[in-house]
Amino acid sequence: MWLTFIITGFLGLIIGSFINVIIIRMRTGRSFITGRSKCVTCNHTLAWHDLIPILSFCILKGHCKYCRAPLSFQYIIVEIITCVWFLAVFYIYGISIGGIITALVGIFAIIIAIYDLRHKIIPDTLSYILICLGIILAVVGVSVGWNIILPAYAFIGIHTIIDYLIACIAIPLPFFLLWKVSGGRWFGLGDVKYMIGIGLIFGFLSTLEIVMSSFWIALVIVIILALFEKVAKVFGFGRNRISEEGNILSFGREIPFGPFLSIALMLELLDIHIFQLLFF
Ligand SMILES: [Zn+2]
Repeated sequence: MWLTFIITGFLGLIIGSFINVIIIRMRTGRSFITGRSKCVTCNHTLAWHDLIPILSFCILKGHCKYCRAPLSFQYIIVEIITCVWFLAVFYIYGISIGGIITALVGIFAIIIAIYDLRHKIIPDTLSYILICLGIILAVVGVSVGWNIILPAYAFIGIHTIIDYLIACIAIPLPFFLLWKVSGGRWFGLGDVKYMIGIGLIFGFLSTLEIVMSSFWIALVIVIILALFEKVAKVFGFGRNRISEEGNILSFGREIPFGPFLSIALMLELLDIHIFQLLFF
């Protein structure tokens, strides 16, 4: 049991490391698998021992060995989140088909969240993969029993195609209209596509819950960030503590919504229902 836990955690760290590579190379035309990783500042090719998750970051004290430029905290944060995610999923689902699918959906949620934070955009490719995955799962789920694949969804009750169609049309529709009316200022089309994917994977009730929860999570985090900004101003902390490259703590202007959807989605997969906790 403990050995499996350690292996799962380790796997999470490695996948987290790979997620960083995907986020950095996506839409740059570089292959995800071939090509050595380089320092984004000095372009020096990194040795294998510079790429050990967490450990390398700690040994190098968060700086590039070759040019001393500060490394983005994104790397280590993504590795830790993915590790914790894998451990949590393994704890709840064990090593099962449901567990693997849950872990996979979470991986996409993490990629979307971090990419959206960095670039304020959700790449269509990611949403389309989720939509395809959702269609496959819905089809398989209808034929072999959704509950067997993802036990946490047992409470949904109605596993019909209509349920999934409503989920991927009725819930994203108002947000699509918001996007249309505001010309993309109030809501992004990327978020709408992400919601369609979520709808197809989760079905109506869970999708509704995820979207509602994401607004509450967004509200809480925005308030905390606003307070943090106020405190930082009072004490004169700079805003640019983290390098421009991985400026994941910066806020203001526009706040990407993808990360909040991702957090709510991952909590839902872990059977934690923020929205229910608040109101029922
Ligand atoms: Zn460097």
